[in-house]
Amino acid sequence: MPSLKILTFPHPLLKKRSHRIERIDAQIMGLIVDLIDTMKAGPGSVGVAAPQIGVSLSACVVDVSGNRQGKDNNHGLLVMLNPEIMSSSGRSIMREGCMSVPDYTGDVERPTSITVRYLNQSEEVMTIEASGFEAVAIQHEIDHLEGILFLDRILSLKTGLFRRKSYQ
Ligand code: ZN
Repeated sequence: MPSLKILTFPHPLLKKRSHRIERIDAQIMGLIVDLIDTMKAGPGSVGVAAPQIGVSLSACVVDVSGNRQGKDNNHGLLVMLNPEIMSSSGRSIMREGCMSVPDYTGDVERPTSITVRYLNQSEEVMTIEASGFEAVAIQHEIDHLEGILFLDRILSLKTGLFRRKSYQ
């Protein structure tokens, strides 16, 4: 499957809370493939959430293993259905970008470490601990499933928002 078009801000679907997935059927398996293909096609992309490709379901993929900030500390490709953050600790500020907000990056403060529970593509309940860049990427994608963009979390619109010069 080719990668799909990414919806961009201010598309209303990006502000909607997505629906829980009740069972993994052929449609969901197709969605997972679309998400992975779209992430791989995105310049420097480390994750995509279903609402970004126009599907209001609680599914996202994350893979920071190819990113210099994430390559030493990651779980490889994560397929997350109905993900939930169970606990978190620490606070740190990182520069975030998003394929749905192509012209800007921003400084966002989030927990440094998280424990997240989700269903994987084999319908197994998984619980993992993530930290650093991977934890940020997971939280960013889970935000998409709640209808939240990084723009909503920027510390200051005056000093925390930056016009993007290039993709890494
Ligand atoms: Zn995003």
